[in-house]
Amino acid sequence: MTVIPFRFNGFRAGFFEYVSSATPNYLTVNNVETHSKNNMGTVEIKSQDPFQIPLIQFQLFNEHDDDLSRMVQNLQYVRKLLNRKPLSKYIEEEVSPGSNVTSTADLEEHVRKNAWGHHGCCSAKMGSSADKMAVVDSKGRVRNIKNLRIIDISIFPIAMGWFPTLPIYLASEKLADDIATHYGR
Ligand SMILES: Cc1cc2nc3c(=O)[nH]c(=O)nc-3n(C[C@H](O)[C@H](O)[C@H](O)COP(=O)(O)OP(=O)(O)OC[C@H]3O[C@@H](n4cnc5c(N)ncnc54)[C@H](O)[C@@H]3O)c2cc1C
Repeated sequence: MTVIPFRFNGFRAGFFEYVSSATPNYLTVNNVETHSKNNMGTVEIKSQDPFQIPLIQFQLFNEHDDDLSRMVQNLQYVRKLLNRKPLSKYIEEEVSPGSNVTSTADLEEHVRKNAWGHHGCCSAKMGSSADKMAVVDSKGRVRNIKNLRIIDISIFPIAMGWFPTLPIYLASEKLADDIATHYGR
């Protein structure tokens, strides 16, 4: 959960223009699902042109994980917290999802419609040769393709639990050392 002192609807198109005209009388409590087990997302190449961005589909929420119910529980918890003294005296009105949205089904609908993600990861996971879904080995080498390594957030086998930049730096340092060692430097 992160608390943000303005109205924050996620990192969407136009976010930076929007932030510069911030909404100081708002408080946003951002629920972050840091331990998602969802691995249904896809990254697809759309064309042979390497400058074309790929089609990325997060496919958030599906029947194989309990992300949706946890998000709804978080939302209910935050609502309870803000409706209790001393915080309640600072809250004039709940804007989103709105105090009239109370049933589990409606809260689920709200989460489905408004959830967003900016920590996409794990599309080319590292793993042993016994793991058919593993794309790279422990040195970042792409299996069955010579002279190709991947060193970025895609190689993590599972979402790392919080903000990813530091773990990526650590993995990058380690894999850069492997490359230097390989070439005797
Ligand atoms: C809006 C937003 C806010 C975020 N806030 C945080 C935060 O506060 N803390 C945190 O820990 N994480 C944050 N993240 C997540 C974090 O930025 C990413 O998880 C991280 O940068 C991923 O690292 P990466 O090295 O895998 O890829 P990237 O950082 O995306 O690096 C990929 C690089 O490859 C380059 N590139 C792409 N294609 C080519 C090509 N064809 N040829 C040459 N170069 C190419 C790109 O220009 C880019 O520099 C945020 C992400 C977003 C989108």
